[in-house]
Amino acid sequence: MPFARSFAVVRVVVAALVLLAVTATTLPAQDSERPPSEAWAALERGDHAKAASILREELDRSPRNAWLHFGAGYAALALGRTDAAIASLKRALEYNPNFFQALVLLSQAAYQSADLDLAVRSLEKAAALAPAAPGIAKQLEEWRAEAALHGRFEQRPGVRFNVLFEGPAERAISDRVAAVLESKYWSLGKTLNTYPGETLTVILYSNQQFQDITRAPAWAGGGYDGRIRLPVSGALRSPRSLDRVVTHELVHFIIRTAAPTGAPTWVHEGLASYLESADHTWAPKTLRAANVRISLADLAGGFERFDGDLAAVAYAESLVAGQLLCERLGANVGTFLQMLGSGHTVDQALSTLNVPPDTFTAEWQRRVGLH
Ligand SMILES: [Zn+2]
Repeated sequence: MPFARSFAVVRVVVAALVLLAVTATTLPAQDSERPPSEAWAALERGDHAKAASILREELDRSPRNAWLHFGAGYAALALGRTDAAIASLKRALEYNPNFFQALVLLSQAAYQSADLDLAVRSLEKAAALAPAAPGIAKQLEEWRAEAALHGRFEQRPGVRFNVLFEGPAERAISDRVAAVLESKYWSLGKTLNTYPGETLTVILYSNQQFQDITRAPAWAGGGYDGRIRLPVSGALRSPRSLDRVVTHELVHFIIRTAAPTGAPTWVHEGLASYLESADHTWAPKTLRAANVRISLADLAGGFERFDGDLAAVAYAESLVAGQLLCERLGANVGTFLQMLGSGHTVDQALSTLNVPPDTFTAEWQRRVGLH
């Protein structure tokens, strides 16, 4: 193990199959029913809010048009509103049960909202319509394996948290995980001024199962992709590390609730790393020992592309940014996240909340030793 500390990966929307859903031409499209080109163009250039508003108006006029519901579902998914996306896509399929693209997109939305059963069923129907469509067979195989594994797990159902674990050996771990989640829900909710209403699924894996399911980098000690996934082999040997990872992932869930999209990775990982525990000493130590630095702009995308050494620097630098956000924004951190979620850039949100972006960046650079 290269590091005494392992990190947790957050995966924001995975778009590969979404793209497939829109570009697939395997089946004849109902051209007469296609949404107005203005809405389609907005979807293609990534202006999902604009597309959603055009489609809403169109749907008022033609509420039974499957393509309009599909477009609305696509826009909602891109905006991180998985529940709304699922509702729109189900409606599209109500009016056209053999709508291939809608089935593929519904499978993605369902997977993101941790409804593996709906994800598999939808993709199976899509596969039956277009057996040769690229990527579908492999995706189905992976999801079926995941469903089969989870099918063997026990559940510790709760109102806010649903914890899945493999057997009696993990029961004590699941009790601890559930207790940490319950207590941190309130304290973190207060810090981030966000109290998710949705039930969160938390799956406890053996270390090998975690690797098989997530294909996460070796340095990952947990993951959040709509549900929390944790490798917990031997976790009670260091219960405080377990608490830290659980807390870290819970922060991702809360941020995702406040800002379904729009939060750069450094905001996600920075706040999660800063709020996961009161002990931050590893970050300056990591930065002192490393001779590389990463710019804030390069910390906006996923960290899975970093190897272990660089990942450590990325997390340490993000922690410094997360701490600075908390110091400068104080009680407004939640508002800041909500602004990111509604389409503001980091700089716009900081300015609005009376934190000049230039001084924020300069102070961050000074603290991480980047000039
Ligand atoms: Zn994380």
